[in-house]
Amino acid sequence: MSKEKTGTAHIRDALSNGVKSIAVVGGGIFGCTAAIYAARAGHEVHLFEKEKDLLQAASGINQYRLHRGYHYPRSSDTARSAKDADVSFREEYREAVIENGRHIYAIAKEGSLVAPDTFLAFCREQGLEVKEIPAGPHLVPDMVALVVEGEESWMDPAALRRVVLKKLKESGVELHLNTRATPEMLESFDAVVLATYARLNELTPPDTGVVQEYQFEVCEKPVVRLPGLENTGIVVLDGPFMCADPWGESGLHVLGNVVHAIHATNVGRSSVVPENLAPFLDRGLIRNPPITKIKDFIESGSRYIPILAHAEHVGSLFTIRTVLPRLEKTDARPTIVTKLSDRYIRIFSGKIGNCVEAAKQVVALL
Ligand SMILES: Cc1cc2nc3c(=O)[nH]c(=O)nc-3n(C[C@H](O)[C@H](O)[C@H](O)COP(=O)(O)OP(=O)(O)OC[C@H]3O[C@@H](n4cnc5c(N)ncnc54)[C@H](O)[C@@H]3O)c2cc1C
Repeated sequence: MSKEKTGTAHIRDALSNGVKSIAVVGGGIFGCTAAIYAARAGHEVHLFEKEKDLLQAASGINQYRLHRGYHYPRSSDTARSAKDADVSFREEYREAVIENGRHIYAIAKEGSLVAPDTFLAFCREQGLEVKEIPAGPHLVPDMVALVVEGEESWMDPAALRRVVLKKLKESGVELHLNTRATPEMLESFDAVVLATYARLNELTPPDTGVVQEYQFEVCEKPVVRLPGLENTGIVVLDGPFMCADPWGESGLHVLGNVVHAIHATNVGRSSVVPENLAPFLDRGLIRNPPITKIKDFIESGSRYIPILAHAEHVGSLFTIRTVLPRLEKTDARPTIVTKLSDRYIRIFSGKIGNCVEAAKQVVALL
């Protein structure tokens, strides 16, 4: 907002003392956390979210894993940064972290991109706890070469939304829901933080010359009832990757699959979404979706994880995943905070646990 628009002498004084008016665009976990930290640093912060609620896109629709590195045996940097960032995420959002679950990881006998010994050596190097366990009953013994239990957590998306909202209010962030930010709206702010993930290029000012290509994946996350798997997550890592993890405290599970989760993919400046999927994106649980790959999830998944054969499909969640292109070799998921110009900062997010560290970087750049 322009200094005149803030209206009060108090704000004018503050602004002359180095306090800035900041627009944060995107009410996902990265935008919300950046807004909270900027407000705590004393700035006057406005947060814009085009949807009618916070955390409706990727921050509300994902695999809910608070990564510590197990998933990234081919990218030590991603593993290390996830483990480091886990500490500050927990401190900030403790109420939304689901502890004490069972986290089971398996390496497939065929098609794995990481060998069992390499995985164990990687865990030792990264200080990630592993305990070897028998394959059965959770995995089909003939299909897997190694099964371990590790120590990670999940996030509860509903609790995360509640705690984020509370912290935004406490820190004095002015929230503008149902408000799609446009370049004109952002003109009067001293600084703009873009945290729009799948739409990062839309508001990147062309004169900064830093429009970035991304890989966009339109994803389905089936939500299933899996009696007998309460508070347990199972992952077949890297290669024929698939997983089942609790969906918050709902008692249901969310499925992942490296192939079947993706309905459409493109590399470019913006995502290309098939017309028949557009109405379902970021709309929460779609019951009886007309488009679903649930049969493929179950057929391929139950070859490794037998309980999946009994999964009852409750509905599916659809959203866009955005990753850096051409990183298939390492599967790296960096979080990158960039100062684009005197006024613009961009957050490209990798893993949710990194949001607090990213917010600290934003504050340092303001
Ligand atoms: C299928 C899937 C599984 C994943 N699994 C995991 C996992 O298990 N663990 C993990 O750590 N990470 C996971 N990730 C990655 C993680 O979810 C994302 O990195 C993170 O949630 C992105 O947060 P964000 O705040 O950057 O973006 P988002 O949460 O997508 O928020 C961006 C917001 O910007 C808003 N917006 C866009 N344009 C405008 C505008 N012009 N004006 C106002 N608002 C606008 C959007 O409506 C949206 O709410 C997964 C991602 C996907 C898609």
